[in-house]
Amino acid sequence: MDHLPTLAFHGAARTVTGSCMEVISGQRRLLIDCGLFQGSRTLETLNREPFPFDARSLDAVILTHAHIDHSGLLPKLVRDGYRGPIWCTGPTKDLLGHMLPDAGRIQESEAERRNRRADRADEEPVEPIYTEADALAAWRQCRSAPLDTSFEPAPALKARLWNAGHILGSASVELEVAGTRLFFSGDIGPEHKAFHPDPEGPSGIDHVVCESTYGDRFATRSASRSAAPSLSRRSRRP
Ligand SMILES: [Zn+2]
Repeated sequence: MDHLPTLAFHGAARTVTGSCMEVISGQRRLLIDCGLFQGSRTLETLNREPFPFDARSLDAVILTHAHIDHSGLLPKLVRDGYRGPIWCTGPTKDLLGHMLPDAGRIQESEAERRNRRADRADEEPVEPIYTEADALAAWRQCRSAPLDTSFEPAPALKARLWNAGHILGSASVELEVAGTRLFFSGDIGPEHKAFHPDPEGPSGIDHVVCESTYGDRFATRSASRSAAPSLSRRSRRP
């Protein structure tokens, strides 16, 4: 008998950054996004906490897009022993080739800066959350998957990426697990951008996990971050 999948939200819940969702079905464990917490110091402290799961037990990671609040803890995940694939679109993989090593260098210089402070002279040195080498190792685990094409992120799981219309390479994730169809919007829109097709998604989904950064406000074209879910989002048959 199929097991109903369980979802666990490890970030971007009651806050905007640190997007990270775990899908558990029987023995299978998959992560959607693994983002850095950004904002207040209290929030950023969460980046140093151990993951609430064993990185080595994951079968796959699917990444919605390259923004650091969705991808920025991938190097820590790999440093903690994750050796499986990180699925994303080809353009996202290209962007990560620059963004992840850069994030690693920022973590290293941030730790160095804190360790140089005179008022910390008597304290234990701060270790970077991860290094440029960890980031490059994470990037080497990225596998590209085209939009609108089914693939198997791990045995017995079926996934498909849909254009999310957010940034270059951004995707929403359709996931079929144990007979249940799930859809993770990731950051979507805003629509009507000059060089980016509007977001799309499938119909007939059992459960949708939707980005809601702007709550019930209608995000305009000038929004600097992601948009609220739009009622005019086109729907296509899978
Ligand atoms: Zn984003």
